[in-house]
Amino acid sequence: MNFELPEEVELLRMTARRFAEEEIKPTQDEDEKNHTFRPELVRAMGELGFFGTLIPEEYDGVDMDHGFLAAVVISIELARVSASWSLPINMQMMGPALTLLRFGTKEQKEEYIPKLVSGEYLGCFAMTEPNVGSDVASMKTHADKQPDGSYICNGQKTWISNAHVADAGLLYAYTDRESKPKHRGMSAFIIEPKNWDGIDSVAIEEKFGLFCSPTGELLFEDAKLPATSLLGEEGKGFKICMSQLDGTRLSCAARAVGLGEACLEASVEYANERKQFGKTIGEFQMVQAQIAEMYAEHEAAKLLIYQAALKRDKGERATRETSVAKYFAAEAAVHAANETMKIFGSYGYSNEYPCGRLIRDAKSYQIVEGTSNVQKMIISGYALGKRS
Ligand SMILES: Cc1cc2nc3c(=O)[nH]c(=O)nc-3n(C[C@H](O)[C@H](O)[C@H](O)COP(=O)(O)OP(=O)(O)OC[C@H]3O[C@@H](n4cnc5c(N)ncnc54)[C@H](O)[C@@H]3O)c2cc1C
Repeated sequence: MNFELPEEVELLRMTARRFAEEEIKPTQDEDEKNHTFRPELVRAMGELGFFGTLIPEEYDGVDMDHGFLAAVVISIELARVSASWSLPINMQMMGPALTLLRFGTKEQKEEYIPKLVSGEYLGCFAMTEPNVGSDVASMKTHADKQPDGSYICNGQKTWISNAHVADAGLLYAYTDRESKPKHRGMSAFIIEPKNWDGIDSVAIEEKFGLFCSPTGELLFEDAKLPATSLLGEEGKGFKICMSQLDGTRLSCAARAVGLGEACLEASVEYANERKQFGKTIGEFQMVQAQIAEMYAEHEAAKLLIYQAALKRDKGERATRETSVAKYFAAEAAVHAANETMKIFGSYGYSNEYPCGRLIRDAKSYQIVEGTSNVQKMIISGYALGKRS
């Protein structure tokens, strides 16, 4: 198999690298310290076409032959500089825009997709609740149909990226709580958190990492969702949610690879500079072994992600490949960040170097878009012949 990137993808990769180096890096230390989110950066990414690789031109996308591959390559390049700033690929395209493209009506697509692709609207997607994480089907938020076709929604979503800054996003809620099996009672909606009555949001101010990526709660108190906000058929929300996760999980895996690359680059540079016992520490076999492990895991993770993306670009499902890639890349990123901290010694423990940020951000990949255990459940399901 030839893994040379197609020319149009390579061009976009170079653009993403330049963007990350020139637009994100210069203010990164300050932004990380102050937990600054800059919406203008999202719009700038939109202008460069980062959110349009999978979107047809009629909705202002760039509709590439290798749209999934391009999306993961951009995600890697952004995460190489900043894990926080690679999230918009999911919050704009892989989450809301791609799901709308697949399940939305013509009107919904025309209304929302171009604004998400350009970055004019900030996006989000909301599954998680205070008592519901891995077991998505046990969510409590419900939307009750009214005689005029609208829905009244009550519930609470938490740990939602972009919750308090989002203009539009996906909401998953039960419309039929009696249905058997229960997940057939779930529906998907497109919501406008800032504009619609009954939807409130609160920022989660203190979190462990991803400081430049806003996270918060969405609160629904008799929120009126118009009939036109239903996405796809009523009762198909679980299927829509799983389809969305197939995309957002893939880009998340790519973000882990980008962070792994950052660890590798930082470790190699430091190992070639830092001297102990009269030699650079990179001359010691144990440090070489640490770097070799990081390198091998990084290459393997990247190939797993390319494999899943190429399968999606052929129009095939890649749930298994995506879970394998996400599981492996997340664990590799955490391992790489851990080894980087060790290689830097006490300097790794200071905020002068990025080791702390790399560890904090890497840990998110073992949690978001399905924890590592959830990925192992999916992978073993295929391996044991219980899923096909
Ligand atoms: C920074 C950040 C951003 C996020 N952004 C979003 C977002 O935009 N939208 C959104 O909807 N959610 C978001 N989330 C939430 C995230 O998707 C959930 O945290 C994740 O799905 C795990 O759910 P949980 O935290 O409730 O853990 P739980 O499901 O409570 O799991 C706790 C532990 O138990 C394990 N576990 C659970 N069930 C099983 C099982 N059956 N077998 C083995 N082990 C199991 C898990 O692996 C985990 O180790 C975000 C989270 C973070 C940290």
